[in-house]
Amino acid sequence: AGPGGGARGRPAVSPNLRLDQRVRERVAAGEDVLHLGFGESRLPVPPLLVERLAAGAVHQDYGPVEGRPAVREAGAGYFARRGVPTTPDQVIVGPGSKALLLAVLAAVPGDVVLPAPCWVTYAPQSRLLGRRVVPVRVPDGCGGVPDPGELASAVRHARAAGADPRLLVLTLPDNPTGALAPPELVRRVCGVAERHGLLVVSDEIYRDLVHDPVRPVLGPAELLPARTVVLTGLSKSLALGGWRVGLARFPDGPAGRALRDRVTALASESWSALAGPLQEVARTAFAEPPEIRAHVRASARLHGAVTGAVHDLLRAAGARCPRPAGGFYVYPDLAAVRPALAAHGITDAPSLQARLLDGFGVAVLAGHHFGDDPRALRFRVATSLLHGDTPEERLAVLHAADP
Ligand code: PLP
Repeated sequence: AGPGGGARGRPAVSPNLRLDQRVRERVAAGEDVLHLGFGESRLPVPPLLVERLAAGAVHQDYGPVEGRPAVREAGAGYFARRGVPTTPDQVIVGPGSKALLLAVLAAVPGDVVLPAPCWVTYAPQSRLLGRRVVPVRVPDGCGGVPDPGELASAVRHARAAGADPRLLVLTLPDNPTGALAPPELVRRVCGVAERHGLLVVSDEIYRDLVHDPVRPVLGPAELLPARTVVLTGLSKSLALGGWRVGLARFPDGPAGRALRDRVTALASESWSALAGPLQEVARTAFAEPPEIRAHVRASARLHGAVTGAVHDLLRAAGARCPRPAGGFYVYPDLAAVRPALAAHGITDAPSLQARLLDGFGVAVLAGHHFGDDPRALRFRVATSLLHGDTPEERLAVLHAADP
C-alpha cells in the first residue's frame, strides 16, 4: 500500500467514503441499494441542537483555535463525569475526531500500534504520515483492545526490527466488532502500555452508545491520565456526522500540555477553529442537559435492539458473530458457511463485498478494510437507519425505544 493506503502509491479515498459515494451514484441512477456499509447514524437530530446551531450564527469570527472557553469548560465537565478529572485547558474542539486524530498522530513522532481488526482510518492516517503500523491481534469478543501478551511481544519485535512504536490506539466500544473490552483487559493492556512507554489514544466516539446503561466502562484515561489522549465527538451518539464536531482531552502534566500545544499549532495552520455556529452546539451537547442525555440513551437502546436482532439472524444463518455491546455495527464471521459461499464464487472478503453489492444491492464493508485477513469472510453491517417521513415521526420512533 502507498502512503495514502492505495495500491502502487496512488492516493486512495478512504474505503468507507468511497463505498458511500458509489452507493449515492447507484441510487441517483435509480438503483435500489440497502446501504449497510457506512458508519453513519440517521437517527433524528435533537431539536435543542438545531436551535443552538441557529443561535450560534452570531459567531462570525474565527474564534480561538482550541475552542471558545465555554465550550472547553463543557468538554472538561463531559470527561469529568466519565471518571477523568479534567481542566478546560486540557480540552480542544475541532472539526471531527478524525481530524483531531490526524493532528495527534502528526504531533507524536513514532510508529503506531493498532488492534486488528480496527477502524479503517487508523492505518491509512499513520501511513500518510510516514509511520509504520504494528498490528496486534484482538482476542475474540474483546474488540478494540489487543491481547496484553501479544501487545508486549509485538512491541518488542517491532523495536528489534528497527521500528519505533510510540502510540497505541484503542477503541471503546469498537468499530468494526461492536465489542466493549472488559475493564480487566483494559487494565492489563494499560499496564503493558506504561511499561513499554506507549502513549494511548483512546477513541471513545461510541462510548455513549454502549447499549446496556449499567454496564461498567473503564477507559484508559482513568488508569493512565498522564499518558492517554481521549477522542470523542457528536457524530455517532447524536447522529451529527455531517456537522463535524470532535473533542480531544490531552494527558495530565507537562508532557500532556506540550502535546496539546503541538496539536493546537497544527490546528492553527489547518482548520483554524471549529466553525462558530457549531461551537454553540458543542457547548450544549457536552454540557449534557437532560434532553440530550435522554436522546443519547434512547439512541443507544435502539441501536442495541437493532444490532441484537441482526446478530440473532446472522447466528441463525450459521455465522459466528459476537453480540455487539455498543455502537451500531455487527461483524459476522462467515467461515462456517464457506462452502455455500464458494458455490457462488465468493471466496474472500473483497469478493463478498462485491457480490453483495452487484448481485443483491446490499452495500457492506468487508473485513480486509479493517486490517483483517482478506481471506476471512467477515463484513461489517452498520444498522443506523431510522425511517419516518417527518422529523417529528422519527423522534417519536426514537423515544418509543426508551421505556
Ligand atoms: N473513530 C471511529 C472508531 C469511527 O468509527 C469514526 C467514524 O466512523 C470516527 C472515529 C470518526 O468520527 P468523526 O466524525 O468525529 O470524525
